[in-house]
Amino acid sequence: MNRPLILIIEDEDSLRRFLVPTLSGRQYQVLCAATATEGLALARSHNPDLVLLDLGLPDRDGMDVLREIRTWSRKPVVILSARNQERDKVRALDQGADDYLAKPFGAAELLARIRVALRHNLQAEVTEPVVCGDGLRIDLARREVSLLERIVKLTALEYRLLEALVRRNGKVATHSQLLAEVWGPGGEGNTHYLRIYMAMLRKKLEADPTRPRHFITEPNVGYRLNLEESGN
Ligand code: CA
Repeated sequence: MNRPLILIIEDEDSLRRFLVPTLSGRQYQVLCAATATEGLALARSHNPDLVLLDLGLPDRDGMDVLREIRTWSRKPVVILSARNQERDKVRALDQGADDYLAKPFGAAELLARIRVALRHNLQAEVTEPVVCGDGLRIDLARREVSLLERIVKLTALEYRLLEALVRRNGKVATHSQLLAEVWGPGGEGNTHYLRIYMAMLRKKLEADPTRPRHFITEPNVGYRLNLEESGN
């Protein structure tokens, strides 16, 4: 079996000492770089299946690394970000990063994010129904949504928002990505639309809307549809 190759670009020794054994102890091969220059060289020479990218690198901004990788590769890039880098995180996602992990993170979270990122990118065609556990079933091919085997009626905008999340296949979607996809150019900046419509989706599709298990808020960033069976 081919073990996916993961490139870590991170200057913090302690974090690399956690990441390398955690990943190579699983089904992954691991390459490591401590600078942007070294990281880009390894990315070009090895074409990794996934890149874990720190934004705060000593020689160049991690954002430059992302931009450069995106000129020739669509492979998943997961940002490693400090809690106070909210704006950078969103910028990175809007510029083509697939997801992010906020430091500090544990092994379970890391492995779950990597699993999600390694699934195919945006799914243009979702032909099989998506089942999220708790009896939530979304069938994009038939435009049919059901909870506990009862069909749930959604408005056109609710459905479009749900569809945008489903197509991300468990990855985070930023506010501006969702606004553009669901409301078009007129939606720009209207984050409150999202709050309102997300509340509607939760009310209709979560067993307990006050403790959502599927429609997950990523504070200051966006939303994701949690597709993993055993919570997050
Ligand atoms: Ca750093």
